[in-house]
Amino acid sequence: MSEVSTITLNNGVTIPQLGYGTYQVPPEQTKDAVLAALEVGYRHIDTAEMYGNERGVGEALKESGLAREDVFITSKLNNGYHRRDDALRAIDESLADLGIDQLDLFLIHWPLPTIDVDYVETWKAMIEIQESGKSRAVGVSNFQVPHLQRLLDETSLAPAVNQIEVHPYLTNEEVRAFGAQHNIATEAWSPIAQGAVLDDPTLKEIAERVGRTTAQVTLRWHIQRGDIVFPKSVTRSRIEENFALFDFELTDEDVKTIASLNKDQRTGPDPDTFDYVPR
Ligand code: NDP
Repeated sequence: MSEVSTITLNNGVTIPQLGYGTYQVPPEQTKDAVLAALEVGYRHIDTAEMYGNERGVGEALKESGLAREDVFITSKLNNGYHRRDDALRAIDESLADLGIDQLDLFLIHWPLPTIDVDYVETWKAMIEIQESGKSRAVGVSNFQVPHLQRLLDETSLAPAVNQIEVHPYLTNEEVRAFGAQHNIATEAWSPIAQGAVLDDPTLKEIAERVGRTTAQVTLRWHIQRGDIVFPKSVTRSRIEENFALFDFELTDEDVKTIASLNKDQRTGPDPDTFDYVPR
């Protein structure tokens, strides 16, 4: 199989375009699931304090015997830690739970634009975190265009990535285009809409023609659009299936056809109104 492609972020750090997502991987299953992914060949793991499974990711990393620099690890700042001092503490806790001394990428998980802490303050703490060397790159997640614009206008550093919901039923073009224009890489979360796109007749037709599954066609579509993806599965055969994306191609026509399936249908919360803060 051909190799996983990479993307160079705006600060020169390189990220594998395909990774393994860990949202809803139960903590007690995380070590084995991540070990399976590493065995299959994934070298990029996406986790978060909110998922409660950073320890399992760290255990898998250790047990795999892989060199730290060979696996790209992303974690995220939880919603309760948006104040500067809390953010600085939170990265230390994530690093301790993961059993590593540096993250590759650390993201503000949600902008929480309606709470009493301004995400610009939080972003300034993220810049401090990058400067301290505790993460090689920093970015955001679920930021809309006005949120990104404020970071560009009011601080000294553009996020390396914006991790947002993207799949054929929510193509999120406006936010992606803003990212492309400002050299902020787009990471597509829920890349197969947690399974909701897999029975789509158009995707099935393309899958049949290219001799692949609808999941593979959908993930390949993201790759050809230049986004970074990390499908989640606890099923070994699917972990393998989702990794086999680099030995076939979709036509430009297929890529356009799949984008035309958009119906602005979210599987997750709306970032403009989501305000959940754990107590
Ligand atoms: P995905 O779109 O990756 O879908 C995961 C679901 O699809 C699971 O139920 C899985 O089942 C199933 N599945 C996976 N592969 C296949 C396949 N080949 N065929 C059929 N079914 C399949 O959803 P996620 O929401 O998990 O998104 C991926 C990652 O994105 C997350 O794990 C997380 O890392 C990140 N994320 C980030 C968010 C943010 O706010 N920043 C929000 C949501 C996700 P099973 O496991 O049972 O095999």
